[in-house]
Amino acid sequence: MANKLSAYRAKRDFSNTNEPSGEGATRSGARLRFVVQKHAATRLHYDFRLELDGVFKSWAVAKGPSVDPTIKRLAVEVEDHPLDYGDFEGTIPKGQYGGGTVELWDRGYWSPEGMTAEDGLAKGDLKFTLQGERLHGSWVLVRIRNRYGGKQVTWLLIKHRDEFAREGDDDALLAEDRSVASGRTMADIEAGKGGAPKPFIAKAASVAKDAVWDSNVVLAPAQRAKRKAAAAKPPAQPKPKAPAPKTRIVKAAPPRPRRKRPE
Ligand code: MN
Repeated sequence: MANKLSAYRAKRDFSNTNEPSGEGATRSGARLRFVVQKHAATRLHYDFRLELDGVFKSWAVAKGPSVDPTIKRLAVEVEDHPLDYGDFEGTIPKGQYGGGTVELWDRGYWSPEGMTAEDGLAKGDLKFTLQGERLHGSWVLVRIRNRYGGKQVTWLLIKHRDEFAREGDDDALLAEDRSVASGRTMADIEAGKGGAPKPFIAKAASVAKDAVWDSNVVLAPAQRAKRKAAAAKPPAQPKPKAPAPKTRIVKAAPPRPRRKRPE
C-alpha cells in the first residue's frame, strides 16, 4: 500500500492540505466502492475513482462522465489515491497540488463485468457496472493512444447502452450541483457553509467538514489531532504556557475572509 500511494504522497504537503494522507481507518466492505469528486482546480474536472486492492484507481475526467452513450469522455489516468480520500470534501489550498474546491458528486458500488478488474485494466478495456446515487448501469474505460504528448496515460469513459443510458442528456445530470455526502453546492463548500459530509469509507462516525483554512493558517489533520489532545490533557505539573504548536503560514495565499475552523 505504501508503494501504491508514494506518488500520491509525494505530490502533497500534508502540513498544508487537509487531504487525507491515507492513514485513516476505513471500513472494509464486501463490495468495491467508487466515488466521483467534482474538482474546481485550475480547470474544472471530475475525479473518477474505483476501489481496487486497497486503493482508488483514479482518472481525471475533464468534462465529467456522460450518461449519453454516444459521448466519449477523455479520462486521464492519475496516481492511485488512498481509500479515505473517498470521503474528502472541502477546499485544497491554492498553491497546493490540485488547489481548489472538491465536492463529493457521486458514490456507491462498482463491479467489473466479464473479467477481473486487474485483467480489464491490463487489457485497457475495463467494463464495469456502477450502482451510485447518480451514475448507474454499464460503462467502459478504454485505454487509447496518447494524442496529447507527454507521459499521460489516456482513456475514454463511455456509457454503455442500457436502461440507464440517456441519449441527448446534454450533461443535464452533471449540472446537478449538490454533494451526495453533505447536500452542499460547490459554492457552499467554498464558503464553508452547510453540514459535514456523511462518511462512506471512514470508520469514524464523522469526517472533517472542510479542508478550509483558518485565516491563512492551515493545519493538517494530524496536527489538529495533536492540538486537540494537548488541549484536553491537563499539564502534569505547573509550568509556563507551552508554546503554541508550530503552524505553517501560507505566504502565497491571497487575502481571504476569515473563517472559523470547524472542529
Ligand atoms: Mn482532481
